[in-house]
Amino acid sequence: MKPLTPQQALADARAVLAEVFGYPAFRGQQADIVTHVGAGGDALVLMPTGGGKSLCYQIPAIVRQRAGLGTTIVVSPLIALMHDQVGALHEAGVEAAYLNSSLTAEQAAAVEQRLMRGELTLLYAAPERIVTPRFLARLQALFEAGRLALFAIDEAHCVSQWGHDFRPEYRELAVLPERFPGVPRVALTATADALTRADIVAHLRLEGAATFVASFDRPNIRYTIVEKRDSLRQLLRFIEQEHGGPGGHDSGIVYCASRRKVEDVAARLQAAGLRALPYHAGLDAATRQRHQDRFLREDGLIIVATIAFGMGIDKPDVRFVAHLDLPKNIEGYYQETGRAGRDGEPANAWMAYGLQDVVQQRRLIDESAASDEFKRVLRGKLDALLALAESTGCRRQQLLAYFGEASAPCGNCDNCLAPPQTWDATEPARKLLSCIYRLQQSGTAFGAGHVIDVLRGQETEKIRQYGHAALSTYGIGRELDETQWRRLLRQLIALGAVQVAGEFHTLHLTAAARPILRGEQAVRLRVAADGGGRARDRSERRARAVSSEARLPLIGREVLAALKAWRAGVAREHDLPAYVIFHDATLRAIAECLPREWSDLLDIPGLGDKKREAYGADVLHIVAEALARTAPSPLTKWA
Ligand code: ADP
Ligand code: ZN
Repeated sequence: MKPLTPQQALADARAVLAEVFGYPAFRGQQADIVTHVGAGGDALVLMPTGGGKSLCYQIPAIVRQRAGLGTTIVVSPLIALMHDQVGALHEAGVEAAYLNSSLTAEQAAAVEQRLMRGELTLLYAAPERIVTPRFLARLQALFEAGRLALFAIDEAHCVSQWGHDFRPEYRELAVLPERFPGVPRVALTATADALTRADIVAHLRLEGAATFVASFDRPNIRYTIVEKRDSLRQLLRFIEQEHGGPGGHDSGIVYCASRRKVEDVAARLQAAGLRALPYHAGLDAATRQRHQDRFLREDGLIIVATIAFGMGIDKPDVRFVAHLDLPKNIEGYYQETGRAGRDGEPANAWMAYGLQDVVQQRRLIDESAASDEFKRVLRGKLDALLALAESTGCRRQQLLAYFGEASAPCGNCDNCLAPPQTWDATEPARKLLSCIYRLQQSGTAFGAGHVIDVLRGQETEKIRQYGHAALSTYGIGRELDETQWRRLLRQLIALGAVQVAGEFHTLHLTAAARPILRGEQAVRLRVAADGGGRARDRSERRARAVSSEARLPLIGREVLAALKAWRAGVAREHDLPAYVIFHDATLRAIAECLPREWSDLLDIPGLGDKKREAYGADVLHIVAEALARTAPSPLTKWA
């Protein structure tokens, strides 16, 4: 077999992109990657979720198969996903199969036979299966026959023990280049940090691979972080305003810190008329599986979950991710919010956070069994997240800066859309800090409630008991109410000037408090914006939030509804999620251009040759029916 030249690989890849996947153009670095890998080069691909990693190995696989180079082996840790991925390839007319523990021995043997006969373009398999002597021997036979086209190693960060998805079997994939020299390998991940990247290169022996690093920006995700008041009410209002409330068709994920809270929030969303399901490690495996399947397959379902939910969910049309509790760090926040909007359509990342979150997270770190060194790292990471939450500047800019990427203000986050007003809180901050200082001097440490009572000159039992009315700071802070003091305290904790410690969450000053106390450092805080008094802003947001669906003319909406109903039926019949049949974006494109004849179908994105063959007639029929239903009668035409 003659090796492919890069020029040829690119030309073939372009053809495959259009014919098989129905897309007019590559995105970002996809063209470079498929050229390099298609022509037989090794590559490391770092691309955010939704960036389009799958095509980076699927297209080279098809190109190389067509060139007579054989089958691509895809290493994937996620058994649950293989079925849908292979289903999606079938829909596009690509010969693919998977080998994992969900198959019976006979089924697995049949797949292996197809592999050996060279019938497969892609074979998905779990890493532990690939490194068995038996399977390696199969690969050896293919290799010797020149029919091993490519190895694609998906979720490559699993090789690193620094991530939370460490899979020791991934390390054994180092045998691949030894056993099969010259077979190209492409490793892909959405994990960005330098440590993980170095681990991938070292453990997978990719020293000579070309590295492709995409921007980690997710421009279609709108970041919003609000101050927690009554977080459940705030969440309901957010879903109502941005995602249609009960009866809405948007899928979303709500993250909570504990199982109890997951149960509680799911029940309360249901009570509010939303279709919500809980998901956490305390549920039995069958229930978890059922809830996950429904989330993947149904429109408009909300999953309330602990962070255990999400790894391996590649549902492209999740329209919002909401956090009711603070993640541990920016990496976690980025990864969890990243599950929204993989399809590139507008999506929301919304978080409510408050003083209690800060206290809680700090305490978890303090009380953990980790070494002091490790705790310092954890505290630093938490501080970076708190700084993001308290920030008055562009959220995206700060988020990307954390990953080492410079950017301009984005125009698509809460702070860009409605720049927060700030006020000079230096004086109140000094009062609060000196009050903590005076109390500390009195020999006992106290929590937030008591400190604020003293500041505001309250007459409580505790104040009488300790004689704190005699303190010089008693009653010096009557100008602010309790909520305002708590907000200020939270920001001082976020700044690291105050530390929370022990079982009673007592407050202590740190070295960072000194310049503030001395008046050398000003404190500027954001004016609270909790949605209550922001009518103007709210109606603006609503105007911006309206989905592109609502902008369709009446006939388009009618067609879209009919297409969705039809798609749900096909998906059920094929036992696949609806988005595997057609993405929302494809249905919307149909509803926009209302194709009347076959040639009108040629320019619909996401409609490759096979799908046009399989579903084109149905689509034309649905459009024609809707047009006939809504066509004005001759009489009304002139009315
Ligand atoms: P990742 O694995 O990087 O999270 P996917 O491979 O699932 O992302 O791709 C995300 C979405 O973008 C998918 O719905 C995919 O069909 C779509 N997509 C990828 N590349 C293109 C392209 N060149 N043109 C149009 N859509 C694309
Ligand atoms: Zn911004």
